[in-house]
Order: sequence, then structure tokens, then C-alpha cells
Amino acid sequence: MREPAGGRTTGIPTGLLIGGVWRDARSGMTFTVADPATGDAVAEVADARPDDVPDLVEVTATAFPSWSRTPPRLRAELLRAAFDELSARSEEFARLITLEMGKPLAESRAEVRYGAEFLRWYAEEAVRVHGMTRTAPDGAAMHLTLQQPVGPALLVTPWNFPLAMATRKIAPALAAGCTVLLKPAEETPLTALLFAELLHGIGVPPGVVNVVTTSRPGPVVERILADRRIRKLSFTGSTEVGRTLLATAAAGVVRTSMELGGNAPFIVYADADLDAAVEGATTAKLRNGGQSCVAANRFIVERPVAAEFVARLTERLRAQVTGPGSDPATTLGPLVNRAQRDRAVRLVHTAIAEGAEPVLMDEPEPDSGFLRPVVLNHVPHDAHIAHAELFAPVAPIYLVDTEQEALRLANATEAGLVAFVYSTGADTLLRAATALECGMVGLNRGLVSDAAAPFGGTKQSGLGREGGEVGLQEYLETKYVSFPAGSL
Ligand code: NAD
Repeated sequence: MREPAGGRTTGIPTGLLIGGVWRDARSGMTFTVADPATGDAVAEVADARPDDVPDLVEVTATAFPSWSRTPPRLRAELLRAAFDELSARSEEFARLITLEMGKPLAESRAEVRYGAEFLRWYAEEAVRVHGMTRTAPDGAAMHLTLQQPVGPALLVTPWNFPLAMATRKIAPALAAGCTVLLKPAEETPLTALLFAELLHGIGVPPGVVNVVTTSRPGPVVERILADRRIRKLSFTGSTEVGRTLLATAAAGVVRTSMELGGNAPFIVYADADLDAAVEGATTAKLRNGGQSCVAANRFIVERPVAAEFVARLTERLRAQVTGPGSDPATTLGPLVNRAQRDRAVRLVHTAIAEGAEPVLMDEPEPDSGFLRPVVLNHVPHDAHIAHAELFAPVAPIYLVDTEQEALRLANATEAGLVAFVYSTGADTLLRAATALECGMVGLNRGLVSDAAAPFGGTKQSGLGREGGEVGLQEYLETKYVSFPAGSL
């Protein structure tokens, strides 16, 4: 096993992966990847510019015809081999995730398990792609549908789950027969590079998976999408960047999948099992240090249980151990960088100025990547923070008096990714699941992510789904064939 040694990476590829060959950027430029816990540099990675793009698109497009005709069973077996290899090297990947992203090792291990599941699931799905046949209603024709890979795909991923966001896209793309060009986030490219190397190691042919790293994603991605051979864009990241990319993709009418920002409500009704609600709230708030699109962003609590819920949640958050992710005692790592931490601190201060009551708040240390958990009670429903994706261990509590008020407040956002609801009433839960405007709902659960389930959002949280059977459809086109009834 290769391990990052002495705070520096050893043996991790740092170039552009172009047709199975690792290359420097044409300019020879690199950018620095830093450890969020210390701010120290851990690696220099190739920094692509638009003039690197033609070679990358060329190899991705050239590999497509043969990969799309590769028997599904063979594609499935490669994905299964990737699952086995990643699982066997799980500790190496977990340490690298912690090094470049900051999350505690236990969470990095969980990410490797979660990320690997997409490889296993789509290994199983690759041989289950089927169309349909039908007699036309008027009896004159037969209808046949074929499911064919959409074409070479650009995959753009965020920093918060450096491995799982990549496997969630690569696995269904490869299962469908698409070749891919992956652009990982500049904060966390190393995990994606190591994973691409793993794929080549287990026999994925050159050109099927290519990787471009850059500190200037805007111009590089624009240049990639300007090449009409790229027929698919799958993006996970902020709503703001997603909106820009939708406009860019529109020029070539490129198929898009968008997994964008969230603003998850976490509703606690007066009849909730508070033990379960506090447990779920802690998970939904603190997974990944709150830096998750499905993190609980607004705790909406019915007044009769608010005092007890807030007190118990505060105790759980106060007990968190902050420190470097590599320390086994740590339960809460640093935020990914100082800018994210400073943004969270500003949001908290604005909320307090608007009337929120700080229940738990340590004065943040200057020039540190860490933020201890914050609990804000009695947050005004129209506070600025109610419309911001926090991406930090900050828990704002909004008090409500009725079920209708809870649902109205939960839906009062342009985001529609996930919602969590705690109640012991089956009717209440089902009414909420029906009324909430979002793509996913956790009922008495604080975690919904699962490779076998359709993950995705409504409203401005995105388009399309990742995971499950439908995740494969994002990489397939339906072709309809018509012929006279009885002619074949
Ligand atoms: P981001 O949008 O800044 O970056 C995401 C990716 O887009 C990175 O690879 C980045 O390099 C690239 N990028 C940035 N600007 C670009 C541009 N102009 N053109 C092309 N590419 C560009 O987001 P982030 O801060 O890295 O990630 C956090 C966001 O991701 C949050 O909003 C979070 O909710 C969202 N997210 C959503 C999901 C989901 O499944 N819905 C999952 C994880 C994260």
C-alpha cells in the first residue's frame, strides 16, 4: 500500500491523463493542493489551459466507438474488478481523501465504501440495459426501442466527496458504453487521479477514462463543451456554476445532468421520537463537517418540543472533537479552506444581527481552518441565512406552531434537493413526503444517500438523477425503430 508520507504525497499521479498516458500541461504549469488542516502544500498538480483540451477530447472521442461496442458483460466485469480493487485499497484512498479534503478518517473510510458501491451497482446494471417492442395501436407497425450510449461525456465534480462524486458518474457512464473526460475540483484532484490510475491498472482501455486538472475551470470547461464531439455533461457543484454550464451546454444542445446545491429542511414535529430526531439531526448536520449538499440546513421545530430538542442537539454538537482528520480522536475536521470558514462565520454574524439567538458558539480562532459547531435558536424565518447553503457545522433553528407552517417554511426556497421529517404519525409523514418540493425525503432518517437509490433534486437543485436504475438512463439515448407489422 502506498501512503501519503510525512504530509506529502508519494506515488500519486499528478499529471493529465490523456489516452492512458500521464502528461504535463503544455505550459508546464502546476497548481498546489493543500492540506486543509494545516494549510501546508501536499502536491503540485498539472494545471491545464484551453490549449490542452484538443488532445483530451480527441482521445475521449476516439475511444468511444470501440468502448460502446465492448460487450456489456466485459464492461460489467471491469467495473466489478474496480470495486474489488478499490475495496482492497480502501485505507490508501481514505487517507488520501483526508489529506486533501480534511474529513475525519472514519468518514473517509465511509466515503470509500459509498463510492465503491456505485462500481458494484453499475457492474450489476451494465448487463440489464433493455428496450421494448410493441405493436402500434392501429396494428399497422411494430415499435422497437434501442438504448444506446449518448457519447463521449464530460464529468465535472466537487471537492466535498472527491471519490464518491467521481464514481457516481464514471460507473454509470462506463456501464452504458460512454467514454469520459473527468474534471475533478481543484481543491481535491489527487483522489480522482489515483482512482483513474486504478482503473487503468485493472484493464480499462486507454482513452476510456481521461482526466484534466486545472485551476481555471471556466475557460477549460468552456473549450471542452465547444467541441461538438462531447455529447454529455454531468455536473455536481454549486447552483451558480451549474446555471452557467447549462447556458454553455445549450449552444451544442448537449445532454446535461445537474446535481446542484441544497437547502435541506429538517422538520421535527411535536410527536417525534426525540432520541431518534437528535441522532438523525447530528448525522444530517455533521456528516462531512456539514459540507454536503444533503446536510440539514434549516431545523424547523414545532414549539412544544423545541426547548428539549435544542438542548439535546446542542449537547451532541458541543461534544464534538475538532482536529485534523488524520487524528483518530477527531470527529469534526477543518472546513475545506479558509474562505469557506470565513463565509460561514459571516453568515452566523449576520443571522445574530437579524435576531437569532446563539446557543452554542465559540469565538472562531483567526487564521484557522476550523469552526466549532454553532447552534442558533429563534432564527427569524426571513433571515438571510434561511436562503444560504451553509456548508458548515452551523445549526439554525426555526420555530413553528403548526404542520402547515412547517411545510410552508420548508418549501420557501428555490432549492429542492432533500428534506428530513421526524414524526411518529404515519399520516403526518406521508403528508409531508407528498407536500415537500424536493427530489428526496428522509422519514425518521437523517441520511438518504445510497448507490441503489435515485439521488437528485427538483427546482434549482438540479436535473436528472444519479444512482439506481435511472442513473444509467442519464448516459443512454432511446432510439425508436418502426417497421411494418409482420414484416420481420
Ligand atoms: P463549485 O460549483 O464551485 O465547483 C464544482 C466544480 O465545478 C469544480 O470541479 C470546479 O472546478 C468546477 N467549476 C467552478 N467554476 C466553474 C466554471 N465557471 N465552469 C466550469 N466548471 C467550474 O462547487 P463546490 O464549491 O466545489 O461544491 C460545493 C457545491 O456542490 C455545493 O453547492 C453543493 O451543494 C454542491 N453539491 C451538490 C451535490 C448534489 O448531488 N446535488 C453533491 C455534492 C455537492
